[in-house]
Amino acid sequence: MAGSRVQLELSRVLQGRARLGVLKGLGRTGQHSLDVPGCLLYTHLGTVPHLTQDTLHTISNLPSVTQVTLSHIAEHQEVLEEFKDGFRKFAGLHDTVLYCSLYDPAVLSPTGYITNKTVSLWGTGGRVELSVARFMALQKMVQPDWYHTMADGETWQINTSRKRVRKSVDRTLAHLDECLLLHQKSQELDSTVVFGVVEGGDILDERVRSARETAKRPVAGFCLDGFQTGAMDQDLRTQLITAVTKELPEDKPRLLQGVGRPDEVLACVEAGVDLFEGFFPFQVTERGCALDFSFDIYSEPELTARDEEEHAAGERQPNGDLNCDNQTQMTAFEMNLKDKRFQDDFRPLVEGCGCYCCKNHQRAYLHHLLVTNELLAGVLLMIHNTSHYQSFFSALRRALVDDKLDLLKKQLHRDEGSQTNRKENVLL
Ligand SMILES: [Zn+2]
Repeated sequence: MAGSRVQLELSRVLQGRARLGVLKGLGRTGQHSLDVPGCLLYTHLGTVPHLTQDTLHTISNLPSVTQVTLSHIAEHQEVLEEFKDGFRKFAGLHDTVLYCSLYDPAVLSPTGYITNKTVSLWGTGGRVELSVARFMALQKMVQPDWYHTMADGETWQINTSRKRVRKSVDRTLAHLDECLLLHQKSQELDSTVVFGVVEGGDILDERVRSARETAKRPVAGFCLDGFQTGAMDQDLRTQLITAVTKELPEDKPRLLQGVGRPDEVLACVEAGVDLFEGFFPFQVTERGCALDFSFDIYSEPELTARDEEEHAAGERQPNGDLNCDNQTQMTAFEMNLKDKRFQDDFRPLVEGCGCYCCKNHQRAYLHHLLVTNELLAGVLLMIHNTSHYQSFFSALRRALVDDKLDLLKKQLHRDEGSQTNRKENVLL
């Protein structure tokens, strides 16, 4: 059966939901594993944006799973068909597990192009319409180690009707059955793992129905769709994910799509999520920012006088109201290095960070690269942001080992809280 080799070994489950463990048996020969909670490596056509393979591998603790998306690959179908040897070889990827998803989590796709039988993807050349047959033909060509089945996920917008949500759950289950049928007949996908997609918008009973029905199918794990940042607030997301994960078998992994902010990641881990897409460092890089939030719960970080000044001057911005643009807005977990106050700041981006950027460069240099539009700005920021984000996931797992998730949560919210308080003090 599809994906029967993949095994989730849980070492701890806290408060009945937050899970710590290892996903084993990944890859063609089953030699790869991935710690959970964890995230995947975000790429554009197999390449981490801004980084060469050599530069990428200066970062330690990289995830063993590389994510590629059909929205990037679909328009190159003819080239890959001619190439014949699968996407991994085409992109020069070797020692990694290849996961293929439908959409790019860092990009909002236009809505309104889904039919009973098709979904639409948007590449650089415009819209590509996929039936299940074409979707599966693409998977056979990509030959990933792991993919999720085709889904109707256009029900995340606020005020989507119950009728539309029900239809999306029905369509997604029909696509799942069709995909599984074609998968089982395919030699190319013989050792490939399949995840089913849970839909249901913000309607609790539809979420539960989608989870329950998907769990009845022979899938190796689950993708939770329609919870992305901007679609709903965290309380509702937590409530729905908690209900969904209750319906899913304990021994199979749950991957949450479209959520990357550290505070939301932590809340979703508490609701029973194991895996996340790793697009957040890329979004932060694209807005000229550097991740600088603290996740060190074992030593109390002290704010320097200059830090205080920066906070008071509103260096960080609070999170905006919920809307579709939320994914591109600066969060409280990063600093905007384009700001003039960094032009004579000769400290590393984050004191104590071991990445190439922080060991060799200062905030002032990054500020200069950004204001002069040098390509190196994106390279250095992507190194730091990827490294910082991976370290956050390591800290999250360590907090689970030591039963200190609450302390980590306090630490993350302190960044947001202290910013708001300092701002108010200045106003007074
Ligand atoms: Zn760094």
